[in-house]
Amino acid sequence: MRKVFLFVLLAATAALAQNPPYAPDRRPGEGEGPFPRLIIRGATVVDGTGAPPIGPVDIVIEGNRIREVRGVGVPNVPIKPEGRPKDATKEIDGSGLWVLPGFIDMHGHAGGAEQGTTAEYVYKLWLAHGVTTVREPGCGNGADWCLHERDRSARNEIVAPRLVPYIFTMRRSWDGGPIDSPEQARKFVQWASKKGFDGLKVFAAGDPIFQPDILAALLDEANKLHLGSTTHLAQMGVAESNILSAARLGLRGMEHWYGLPESLFTDRTIQDYPPSYNYANEQDRFGYAGRLWKQAAPPGSEKWNAAIDELIKLRFNIDPTLTIYEANRDLVRAMRAEWHERYTLPSLWRFYQPSRTAHGAYWYHWTTQDEIEWKNNFRIWMRFLNDYKNRGGRVTTGSDSGFIYKLYGFDYIRELELLQEAGFHPLEVVRSATMWGAEALAAPRGAKVESGVVRPGYLADLVMVDQNPLDDFKVLYGTGAIRVNDANGAVERVGGVKWVVKDGIVYDAKQLLRDVEAMVARAKK
Ligand SMILES: [Zn+2]
Repeated sequence: MRKVFLFVLLAATAALAQNPPYAPDRRPGEGEGPFPRLIIRGATVVDGTGAPPIGPVDIVIEGNRIREVRGVGVPNVPIKPEGRPKDATKEIDGSGLWVLPGFIDMHGHAGGAEQGTTAEYVYKLWLAHGVTTVREPGCGNGADWCLHERDRSARNEIVAPRLVPYIFTMRRSWDGGPIDSPEQARKFVQWASKKGFDGLKVFAAGDPIFQPDILAALLDEANKLHLGSTTHLAQMGVAESNILSAARLGLRGMEHWYGLPESLFTDRTIQDYPPSYNYANEQDRFGYAGRLWKQAAPPGSEKWNAAIDELIKLRFNIDPTLTIYEANRDLVRAMRAEWHERYTLPSLWRFYQPSRTAHGAYWYHWTTQDEIEWKNNFRIWMRFLNDYKNRGGRVTTGSDSGFIYKLYGFDYIRELELLQEAGFHPLEVVRSATMWGAEALAAPRGAKVESGVVRPGYLADLVMVDQNPLDDFKVLYGTGAIRVNDANGAVERVGGVKWVVKDGIVYDAKQLLRDVEAMVARAKK
């Protein structure tokens, strides 16, 4: 087993040999602002707290902060000019626009050598879909690369969302050697804190991170130093620690879903692996993962509810990234998504193709039965997420795009649709995508929540779209939503994010997409 780990580790290290170039400096004309006093006039606001839409309102933004959100009338009645905020140095006509807080993708990788993507390509796809903050769980391009881009984005030197790096707890992340003892785990966390990381992605590759004494030291140190923590609790570690046992040791959140069903076992302690199972074979890894939720205590059972309630009590965050698993239940849908043609780089397309070596390309024998198992797996998983939310837990939105036919930005919007499928009201989905993401990021530092809500005092991170996203999240896709024009029977596309505001800077979302389209066209030549 160690040999397999070593091989995976070496392969990963080799792939990391060339980091993608840093994003280019922001060019003139890329984004306007921040403005001394920007006023968005007459818009309908969905504030991110779960409150229903309200409008018309005028939103006053001074610099990078929302100064005022003022109701200026009622729908379908001309707005009286008196009583409206004045002295704008810049105005945006918000009539017919829905304004939401900028979206927070809690699981976004910036691409890299494997995908053949550039940082600029990834960042523009994110921003074009209203994503103004991205937590990068891992920093696969290296610790320094990640921090450098975070800092440049914070200074708005590049066209990018705010970046929040959570470093992998892996020996390749630092020069301090293996993380194989409680002492080493503490040293690693101290290093990460000193470097300026916002948190840790607890992940094991070669090192026994999920060994309870090591995990306990790691999390204890992280919480002392106010570092966030989340995990991909992979199959290789889940026999030693599951989500519930890790949360009890101080883990603050999780990615994906691994380790949750294992926390709900009643008639076994280990997943029903066949004897032929090999974790390094991704067909095994993903195929048998699709047969896992049904081995857990059934929805609504005592064990099910008790686990949910305990995690909620521990203020545990769940970031499911449903979208990245979607190809498992419907390969053709993910593979033939209409945006690939114009927006997927040829190198990324090649990376997605069936392969025994590329991560997430396990399509060498994906059967009808595999898809059926995954459909059923999703149903139980979605029930868990909806129950978690309904009993008082926080669920956030992440995409993990750049693998498994999932494209940056586009498949973040798909995550919103999937949460709605799980039973979330569209307003609950928006809250997960905005305020709850901001809360999850601020919680470890005990910091005040400064984004994710359209309210005075909050950061000016906003999404604007000329269709109602609560009626149909598809209007947020860069390719828009399909409508039939009843006047002439024509098939039309509506929507697509119009403006995205990050830190008071207004970006034309459609221009960002045109930039991406041009990159793809150039690469295809
Ligand atoms: Zn990931």
